[in-house]
Amino acid sequence: MTILHLALPSPLRQLFDYRLPPGLPVPAAGVRVRVPFGRQQLIGLVTGHGEHSDVPAGKLKPVIEVLDAEPALPPALWRLALWTARYYQHPLGDALSQMLPVLVRQGEPLLSRPPQVWRLTPRGLALAPDALQRARRQQQAWQLLSEHPQGLGETALKALGVSRDSLQALAAKELVLLADAHAQEPGAAVAPGPLLAETPLTASGEQAAAIAALAEAGDGFRVWLLQGITGSGKTEVYLQAMERVLAAGLQVLVLVPEIGLTPQTVARFQARFRCPLAVLHSGLSDRERLQAWRAARAGEVGIVIGTRSAVFTPLARPGLIIVDEEHDLSFKQQEGFRYHGRDVAVRRAQLEDIPIVLGTATPALETLANVQAGRYRRLALTQRAGSAKPPTVQCVDIRGQTLVDGLSAPVRARMAETLARGEQVLVFVNRRGYAPVLLCHDCGWQADCPRCDARPTLHRDPVRLHCHHCGAERPPPRSCPQCASTDLRPVGVGTERLEDAFVDLFPGVPVYRVDRDSTRRKGSLQALIGQIHAGGAALLVGTQMLAKGHHFPDVTLVVIPDSDSGLFSADFRAPERLAQLLVQVAGRAGRAERAGQVLLQTHQPDHPLLETLLNRGYLACARDLLQERRLLGLPPAGHLALLRAEATRPELPLAFLQQAAMTIVQGGYGVQAWGPVPAPLARKAGKSRVHLLLKSEDRRVLHALLDVLVPWLEQLPEARQVRWSVDVDPQELG
Ligand SMILES: [Zn+2]
Ligand SMILES: [Zn+2]
Ligand SMILES: [Zn+2]
Repeated sequence: MTILHLALPSPLRQLFDYRLPPGLPVPAAGVRVRVPFGRQQLIGLVTGHGEHSDVPAGKLKPVIEVLDAEPALPPALWRLALWTARYYQHPLGDALSQMLPVLVRQGEPLLSRPPQVWRLTPRGLALAPDALQRARRQQQAWQLLSEHPQGLGETALKALGVSRDSLQALAAKELVLLADAHAQEPGAAVAPGPLLAETPLTASGEQAAAIAALAEAGDGFRVWLLQGITGSGKTEVYLQAMERVLAAGLQVLVLVPEIGLTPQTVARFQARFRCPLAVLHSGLSDRERLQAWRAARAGEVGIVIGTRSAVFTPLARPGLIIVDEEHDLSFKQQEGFRYHGRDVAVRRAQLEDIPIVLGTATPALETLANVQAGRYRRLALTQRAGSAKPPTVQCVDIRGQTLVDGLSAPVRARMAETLARGEQVLVFVNRRGYAPVLLCHDCGWQADCPRCDARPTLHRDPVRLHCHHCGAERPPPRSCPQCASTDLRPVGVGTERLEDAFVDLFPGVPVYRVDRDSTRRKGSLQALIGQIHAGGAALLVGTQMLAKGHHFPDVTLVVIPDSDSGLFSADFRAPERLAQLLVQVAGRAGRAERAGQVLLQTHQPDHPLLETLLNRGYLACARDLLQERRLLGLPPAGHLALLRAEATRPELPLAFLQQAAMTIVQGGYGVQAWGPVPAPLARKAGKSRVHLLLKSEDRRVLHALLDVLVPWLEQLPEARQVRWSVDVDPQELG
């Protein structure tokens, strides 16, 4: 008896055994099968087969249907799937089902159905030419089909004046049939003619050196860091590297951060190459996603471009992977299957044995450490393209200064000068809404969220308190619930408050607010960006959305009212994030001939991080931060896994993670366990949240522990009383 081991879409970390009905060929690993599961039917993937099972033979259920003649994923991607699930300690069945398009999970064929055509049957072929004389229309249809032995589609026949009725009548006489069109030649979907649709730009010396280095290194696995300051023309290096790969008939996978997948980005690739391109974005319907997936898998598209999850797109002929803005946090999935898209992409390049380029102006410390260790090679673009000058960055000491709506007098004066010249000012704040705190000026009471340990944000229209952690909304109180005073004041500055302030401060100047609230409607971000690009004096107020990816050529002044919060955060990654953000925001200024200026308001003008960043640049700053991490044994010098647990009753997650901590300490695994401790946001949406942080200097040691610990935790009765998860290489400790 052949037993199939299956990965089923299930939260359980186990495989399921089923019986293969006799007479059927044994399906290969990666083939989909349909099986009974409880009262329902599930589609799972075969991971292997054998002759023995722990399940008694009488209880083994048979497979209902084998869906595919070939594995759903090519061999390298199958190995990547197994590696990713194990590395991130995620149930294989669930991981696999997240890697496949919804319709593939539901059983749709892996290959697109060839179009259907009408064709003559052998009987039809043998028919005497005048046999249908008395049925003139049928005679006409038969005539046409005998002239087109490949068959004709229904639309084509209709255009030629053949009705459905005539075809049905011929079919009833078994003279014609509806059949699959013959498969197209491989690669037939690629447009004939030259690959380039436009002439490449002339590469600068640095660009040319980078392109040459990539070309000389050949086709095998190698990781490149392309570190290029904003405006240095990273994309042109990508495009010229891609050209070589596409010309060789291979495919390119391009991963971009969530916010970077704009129509402009896609247009840039489309304008250069005359090859088909598949874009994987969240706006696709399930059907469109399936089509893109099939086209990539069949090798019908040259370029696949998408966000994080596109890393799992099968490619028939992979040749190159590009990860743009590799430092971006959106590459890490923060829920469920917590993989890091960049790290998975590097692993994929290794398994496919192809090169990968990680591009950014501000490399992650992990990436820099790999460069220092000689595992990655660094290519640098230090010059802005053309005559553009880099922005100058200056700290504005706001100790003892009176701030109006978060801005000091010298900063307001500089803004006025810039606007008077007809140029644009970008003001970056990291909070949306009106103000982060509502405070009673008489007794000090602060509005809080009843379900979270957090302050809800005050919003303007409509006026409400909105908790950004649990989503709860309510009207603000008219008077203080503690002392009945009506002197309730907003404290701190959000994007809405600045927007209001600017309307008064700079009358007549258009103000554009760009944050998640103002861009919720589809297309509204594009509309805002279009208005900004129209030029002329304008104020741009926004959050991270403004700091990433978009180019604003008329912005010559960037103001960061509060740069202090990142310096004193509890998260050890906060200084790195701050340095990256400051450099990225600064990169928005003065991209054309006009030099840009960046003003950082701070209470800590002498802080070493700011000093290094401003005087010696990002790389020097990152090297200092890396040195600090080494001293503390933190990533990338050490390796972390975070166990999270939450429940309504506070004692449950604590007790659960205490068991984990005890096992680790007693087991002598060589892994440090920090905690369990309350999470930084200890209560969220009514649930108490507890963390246990695991740390080891050796990644293999940490993984060896997790391989034992996670299945053990899963079978504890207490595991069912809490919601728990494991996060390998956590990016956020919140
Ligand atoms: Zn009060
Ligand atoms: Zn809000
Ligand atoms: Zn809340």
